[in-house]
Amino acid sequence: MAAERTTRRTATKTTPAPPVEPDKCATCKGSGLVAVTVRVGRRHRNVGQQEGFCLACFGSGDASSD
Ligand SMILES: [Zn+2]
Repeated sequence: MAAERTTRRTATKTTPAPPVEPDKCATCKGSGLVAVTVRVGRRHRNVGQQEGFCLACFGSGDASSD
């Protein structure tokens, strides 16, 4: 009797991993910049807004814990 060769193949489906996106900073929404209110004068009159450096992510735009 011939020995039956059983090549066992485990059906391993390799699903492509989804691209890992870094969490975006909630403060600047990933842009690294936030709108900063510009005030001038002794009464600190609001004269408008300016793009400012995001201090939550230090301008990187991603919410890294470190
Ligand atoms: Zn930020």
